[in-house]
Amino acid sequence: MNHDAANDSERALRHLLEQVVAETRETGDRTGCHTLSARVLEALAAVPRHRFVPPDLLEWAYADRPLPIGRGQTISQPFIVALMTELLDLRPDAVVLEIGTGSGYQTAVLARLARQVYSVERIPALATAAARRLEELGFINVEIRADDGAQGWEEHAPFDGIMVTAAADETPPALVRQLKPGGRLVIPVGLPQRTQDLRLLHKDENGVVHDRSVLPVVFVPLIRDHE
Ligand code: SAH
Repeated sequence: MNHDAANDSERALRHLLEQVVAETRETGDRTGCHTLSARVLEALAAVPRHRFVPPDLLEWAYADRPLPIGRGQTISQPFIVALMTELLDLRPDAVVLEIGTGSGYQTAVLARLARQVYSVERIPALATAAARRLEELGFINVEIRADDGAQGWEEHAPFDGIMVTAAADETPPALVRQLKPGGRLVIPVGLPQRTQDLRLLHKDENGVVHDRSVLPVVFVPLIRDHE
């Protein structure tokens, strides 16, 4: 990227972060999350979103909106990425599971905040492209697998945080099982082609799961290959 382009994307990124902060404040009464932590803001600032969008959509890379990434899938809206990440409340030593790698953008944000991120993507071509992209960007704490993520990733469980970035009609029970006591899981629940309910689950230290509604959202569907 030449000097001017780098300046442009720096400016666009700063503007995007201001929008995300404002939207977080405006939706705070509904989401219970009024502000973003410095850690989450730093992670968003550090991940170059233009590396995760298709070349013909580069001019939209720092717009606060989802974008198509091919195969009917999308890269999530930055505000939603910020909110879902904040809700997980990750500590630097956290081990995280993500379902729906897509472009790998959300994966990268998580990888800035956690010790290790495991991510599962159903479409092998997207999984491969995301893995390559994250490697090029220097991430060494991410492992991506092409599979149906509704089964979770038993081998690396339990997880401190689980993030699902595709909409399911119910929270897959395997994911709840693979959540550590004290851990959080965030997932859009509802039917495809409709507004879904972003939900936050918290498994307390006794293993009891508490569940609350956060915000209406629209995600592509979680497609189950097993069952
Ligand atoms: N976090 C992504 C958003 C991707 S959209 C980003 O920021 O780019 C949701 C992704 O979930 C799609 O790539 C889709 O292929 C994937 N997906 C759908 N059903 C799945 C399943 N059962 N297991 C894993 N991934 C799934």
